[in-house]
Amino acid sequence: MSRRYLHVDPTLCVGHRLCAEMLPELVTVDDFGYPIISPEPVPRHLGRLVRRTVGACPALALSLDGTPGRRASRDELRPGTTSG
Ligand code: SF4
Repeated sequence: MSRRYLHVDPTLCVGHRLCAEMLPELVTVDDFGYPIISPEPVPRHLGRLVRRTVGACPALALSLDGTPGRRASRDELRPGTTSG
């Protein structure tokens, strides 16, 4: 079975933290309330909950696919900030 990774599109996310409340095992929030997604593959036992969380995002900002994740947050989109 292939590994699956959770992703957030920071251009769509509105930062109301629903995903972090539903899935604290893989999602934390930054100082502004925007999600920080674990870059690790989704553990098999969390698969159903992850799919429910993706489906519950009202902004359709979450996705699940086979591409390895990386840490990302709204910080990366702010002018004058760097991600490195
Ligand atoms: S549920 Fe969706 S819109 Fe809300 S914080 Fe999570 S990714 Fe952003």
